[in-house]
Amino acid sequence: MPKYLDFQKIKESVSIEDAAKRLNLKLKQSGNQLRGECPSCKSGNERVLAITPSKNVFFCHAGDFGGDCIALVAHVLDFSMRDAAEWLTEPDMKPEVQKPKQEAKTEKAVQFDPEKFAARLVYVEEMQTLGISEDDAKLLGHGYHPQRKAIYLCSRNPDGSIAGFIKVRDVNAIEAPPRWILPSNVVPLVRRA
Ligand SMILES: [Zn+2]
Repeated sequence: MPKYLDFQKIKESVSIEDAAKRLNLKLKQSGNQLRGECPSCKSGNERVLAITPSKNVFFCHAGDFGGDCIALVAHVLDFSMRDAAEWLTEPDMKPEVQKPKQEAKTEKAVQFDPEKFAARLVYVEEMQTLGISEDDAKLLGHGYHPQRKAIYLCSRNPDGSIAGFIKVRDVNAIEAPPRWILPSNVVPLVRRA
């Protein structure tokens, strides 16, 4: 889950001057504004960046962009608004530290564990119809999945590891894993009446 950021709260807790200080902006008082060069636009003009503390806003005349403290961080460090807001919530973050680390993908896809799956399979009478004895089923990893309500035939790699399962909902409807889709010249087996 990405960290929840309350933009409003961040805006209220960090003044535009605080944000400018944390960004190490070199600013000079000019009337009711603080003016300086914009480190992002690098215009060479020491007045393009204008911060108005009384209004808690800034405007960059070189980049034609302005806004609140989050927008200032976003503009100067070239961050997204979200990264800028997050940067402001992390008191130790220095401007030299460039873009925050990309968020690690937390929602890892649940990996299919074939051994675990095989362990769930149980032997059922119907498997005799398929010519599978209970001993063979145990040895090879075939079985009925009680939750999925289907028989699974385990196929193994030469090293004994599980390659995949063939699903047998009923003996006339056999489903292989998608990556095992058979070419059209292969005729499916039909059970003899
Ligand atoms: Zn700028």
